[in-house]
Amino acid sequence: MKKPQINIVGGGLAGLSAAYTLLKHGGSDVTLFEARSMVGGRVQSRMVHERNIDFGGFLIYPWYTQCNALIHKLGIDTALVKTPLSDIYYFLDDSGVALTENDVPLSVADGLMLWSKSFLKILQTSSLAEPDLLLFGGTTISEYLQLTLGTEGHAGLYETFFDTVGQGYCYGPIDQAKTAFMAPIVRQMKFYGDIRSTSFFPQGSQTLVDHLVREITALGGTIHTNTPITGIDGTVLQSKTQRFESDAIIFAQTASSDLYGSILPNVPTECWYTHFVTVAVELAATPVVGNTKNWGAAFYAPKPEMSAQAVSVMNSSSLYGAELDGCIVMNIVLRNQKASTITPKKISDLVRSELYRLFPNIHNERIVDSVHWTETMPVSQETFVQAVRDAHGKNGYYFAGDFLGAPSMETAITTGQTAATDLISALRISA
Ligand SMILES: Cc1cc2nc3c(=O)[nH]c(=O)nc-3n(C[C@H](O)[C@H](O)[C@H](O)COP(=O)(O)OP(=O)(O)OC[C@H]3O[C@@H](n4cnc5c(N)ncnc54)[C@H](O)[C@@H]3O)c2cc1C
Repeated sequence: MKKPQINIVGGGLAGLSAAYTLLKHGGSDVTLFEARSMVGGRVQSRMVHERNIDFGGFLIYPWYTQCNALIHKLGIDTALVKTPLSDIYYFLDDSGVALTENDVPLSVADGLMLWSKSFLKILQTSSLAEPDLLLFGGTTISEYLQLTLGTEGHAGLYETFFDTVGQGYCYGPIDQAKTAFMAPIVRQMKFYGDIRSTSFFPQGSQTLVDHLVREITALGGTIHTNTPITGIDGTVLQSKTQRFESDAIIFAQTASSDLYGSILPNVPTECWYTHFVTVAVELAATPVVGNTKNWGAAFYAPKPEMSAQAVSVMNSSSLYGAELDGCIVMNIVLRNQKASTITPKKISDLVRSELYRLFPNIHNERIVDSVHWTETMPVSQETFVQAVRDAHGKNGYYFAGDFLGAPSMETAITTGQTAATDLISALRISA
């Protein structure tokens, strides 16, 4: 009997984990379509000084149960190491003063207030990959902090701090990040692990992507790169030149894709993404941050008036080894700029101007490589996520991706696996 044909759109961790789950189960033919020349999506490692370093997702928290289980299943857990605990500094204003987390403590009174008002709610919140969309109403993190704590006594310090941390990690500003999506992260942090045992692949997260690709291919799956899907007709996918028949489809492309207009024609398919450039720069020597050369990362308060701004800098030698001494990785947020207007020349000009602003004494800088992310962290809209949840499993359509929950590698993997298992039971695919 002919096996059902499952087509997957998008070769990020969501699409790859869906393909792997389906093929491991057996009983279906699986084809994955990726628009770009390589899979991995927002997980991307690149060679710098003969070391693979990460430009995209890389931190694997201890509460990432599915991500850690997958890494174990693929037999690559021995390649993971704990993130070194080098100091992290925060610059919350223009004074040039570097603060550590201990310098920005929540006062006891504010801590108790936040605890009493949100602890129970957070305890009840659903998983990273399926936040309760109504639990906190439509409030943003900024609004929630203001509502709960007021501005008395701290004058917006906590909002600035959380905003700085969030932007540094490539999230959207907290005044746009919805509490519903972020609360499960807080819950997971509190109950399922110690943040100090966060791990990463010192050979690059590409390790995970490469192993998934190897398994998918060995299990008989097909991956087509350079094949953007441009349209859908029932369960037929269309590229520019071809049509691909299927029995069911898993949509794992980023949520801002035009495709959503055809899949969900009657709902607002709005999903807002931050727009970043990640750039590796080689300097004559590692610059001093917080009076030391032995720093891990520095985060800078958002300056909404700047159209482009460095929001975080990482010290590659503290993460990947002494041979990367002098190499830093900088994340630059681009505000209100069209992707099409960001040329390589514009990127190198703004990298240099941000470097000189942050480290006036540097010289001989060399831009080694850069990635321009037009879609970094999604700030999902409840209406859109609800519409996707409602459409899931109908008309042969299944959905996966980090926009469905708290944006992370864990959510991408979990939603990919869920889409695959839902599809297996709906089509009663037997192994
Ligand atoms: C700079 C940065 C740092 C990050 N750091 C961390 C971190 O430390 N820890 C963590 O957990 N997460 C981190 N993340 C987030 C994490 O990388 C993402 O949440 C996750 O990788 C998203 O996976 P995905 O499969 O949902 O989407 P993506 O990886 O974006 O994959 C979607 C894929 O679909 C393809 N596609 C789009 N449209 C089409 C189409 N029409 N046809 C075919 N293919 C299409 C795209 O090319 C892409 O490859 C970071 C992200 C960035 C950018």
